Amino acid sequence: MAQFDMMPIPAPEEGTRSVLALTPEAAAAGGPMISGAGTATFRCGRCKRVILKDVGVEQVQEVVFQCPKCGTFNEPPPWTQSRR
Ligand SMILES: [Zn+2]
Repeated sequence: MAQFDMMPIPAPEEGTRSVLALTPEAAAAGGPMISGAGTATFRCGRCKRVILKDVGVEQVQEVVFQCPKCGTFNEPPPWTQSRR
């Protein structure tokens, strides 16, 4: 089981990237944004909140995740692409 900290990035321009964010209800519940059957866990690069739990690395490429706790936009570290 690998755990990665994502990279905080500036807010992407609208329409340029796919951005995933939790609903306020889901964020308040404290769970991860996505939970699957993969092998990688991704945390917010700023506040370390777990955003993606047990996902496949290939599932999260090219997607920007907004942290439900601190609002930071995160993208997976590019070097994970070589670890598929
Ligand atoms: Zn955060």
